[in-house]
Amino acid sequence: MLSSFTCPNCNAPLQYKPSDLVLTCEYCKSTIILPSPPIMGPPQADPLIPDPSLSEVATLFRAGKRVQATILYREITGASLQEARIAIDRFAAGEPLRRPNRMDF
Ligand SMILES: [Zn+2]
Repeated sequence: MLSSFTCPNCNAPLQYKPSDLVLTCEYCKSTIILPSPPIMGPPQADPLIPDPSLSEVATLFRAGKRVQATILYREITGASLQEARIAIDRFAAGEPLRRPNRMDF
C-alpha cells in the first residue's frame, strides 16, 4: 500500500511506502523527511483506568496530589467523601480506578 505525499519543494505528487522514512523527489531530487507514520489503532488504554473520565484523577494521584485527586473524583462521580477515599485507596493499592459501585457500600 502506497501513501501519497506532496513534495514541499516542487509540489509534485509523490508516493511512498509507509515504512519509508526519507524520500527523494523524483522531479526535483530534493530529499524529504517524511512525517511519522500514523500510530495504528486506538491509543493503549491504561488497564488501571478503565473509565477515561477518571484519567485526570489518576494523573493527580500519581503526581502525589491525593487531596486534589479525591476532590476531583467527587466532582466527576458525585461520590461521597467516604466513597472517594475508598476508591482512591483501592487505586493506591493497585486496583483499577472505578466510579463508586453502590453495591460495595
Ligand atoms: Zn520535488
